Amino acid sequence: MRPQIVFWISAIVRMFVVLILGGITWSFWGVVPGLAVSLVGMIILICVQLHYLMSLADWLDHPSSTRLPDGWGAWTEIFSRLYKLRRGDEKNQAELAEWLARFRQAMTLLPDGVVIMDDVLFLEWCNPVAEKHLGLSLRQDKGMRVTNLVRSPEFMDYIILGRYETPLTLSFRERKLIVHIIPFENRRQILVTHDITESERIDMMRRDFIANASHELRTPLTVINGFLEIASLQPDLDVTIRATHLKLMTEQGERMQRLVEDMLTLTRLESMDYPVRNEHVNMRAMLEQIVQEAEALSAGRHHIALEFDGPDVHGSVDEIRSALINLVTNAIRYTPENGQIRLLWKNMAQGPRFIVQDSGIGISAEHISRLTERFYRVDKSRSRETQGTGLGLAIVKHVLLRHDASLVIESTPGVGSKFSVQFPLSSVRYPDAHLPLETSVN
Ligand code: ADP
Repeated sequence: MRPQIVFWISAIVRMFVVLILGGITWSFWGVVPGLAVSLVGMIILICVQLHYLMSLADWLDHPSSTRLPDGWGAWTEIFSRLYKLRRGDEKNQAELAEWLARFRQAMTLLPDGVVIMDDVLFLEWCNPVAEKHLGLSLRQDKGMRVTNLVRSPEFMDYIILGRYETPLTLSFRERKLIVHIIPFENRRQILVTHDITESERIDMMRRDFIANASHELRTPLTVINGFLEIASLQPDLDVTIRATHLKLMTEQGERMQRLVEDMLTLTRLESMDYPVRNEHVNMRAMLEQIVQEAEALSAGRHHIALEFDGPDVHGSVDEIRSALINLVTNAIRYTPENGQIRLLWKNMAQGPRFIVQDSGIGISAEHISRLTERFYRVDKSRSRETQGTGLGLAIVKHVLLRHDASLVIESTPGVGSKFSVQFPLSSVRYPDAHLPLETSVN
């Protein structure tokens, strides 16, 4: 039955009962007591209704703290319906809060910054990445104008022009950001920031590398082409001159070959698909062989000494050999005649350490941090004279990175340089260790 009908029926029944009681009193004790009983009955009924109305008003004021009474008559139905509505409402609110928490968590995990602003750019909410990108603090800056927080003329122009269809590339706080504003919900806007600092840096490195490599290859190519042109224009050139030209062309060809080989080595070392081999590196055999090669390169112009007191390691034999030989040949190339070159292999608390110390030309402090960059040279002509490609220390850096090792360079111009390679303790190969690939330097 519909609640309105129940309400009316129970109200009519209650009034009817009061009237019957009044009529019975009237018939036994006369009109005045009859009317008095009816009046008192009606007042009691009205008081009951008022009591429930007040309970309802109380509950509406404090729905969560006040309990609804069980009610009487039609009130039972009203209160139970209100209770159900409230339960439904509480459930919806809990669901909404859960969704909001999930949404916030998802926004926190986003790699991009998200800022929600109102139509006049007052900050309403932002995720931690946006705080980092734009230097905001949600706790302190909420309610403030974003243009007062992101103080950049490019950003201001973007806002003033309002051409939000194209994103803005913004250099801000030593980062390069792609900033995009998307209006939504009529009176709100989302600002999305995407950090491209790292990809820009890699792009620039790639561009620089290509430019440098092309430049390095162009010089020997020009020399070879020049001699080829002379040879084709003057077929009856003197034999000794022709021999000199051929010698110079061969040297330039070899230089190009060294460059291409070093570039390929670097590319391979950087490649993820080329894992480090886990081989037994017989350090004594390797270093003795390196000393022999160094002596051949020096041709008796330097005093080369090896002090060996360290363990064998494991890693890629070819890579470690190429890193160490690069350091040793540099020491020879940058040390004048009669200079001293000391090679040390020793065991330190942090792990095995390889040191190459020379009494050469040295390097001034401002260059040291840049030496492992590709094609970085302190003195270009000296590097070329000694057949350098400018990639040696970049190769060393990559090999060491792949072996969790590090390079420390100490140098004093005019006195000499010291290149120390620190291998980790975990690289030590203990005599009884069993490795899948057992190879040693021969
Ligand atoms: P390069 O082929 O030019 O030698 P590297 O990458 O091996 O290239 O070295 C980079 C630069 O570091 C060299 O051009 C040189 O200026 C400097 N350098 C490297 N080793 C030494 C050293 N032992 N003494 C002085 N300068 C050095």
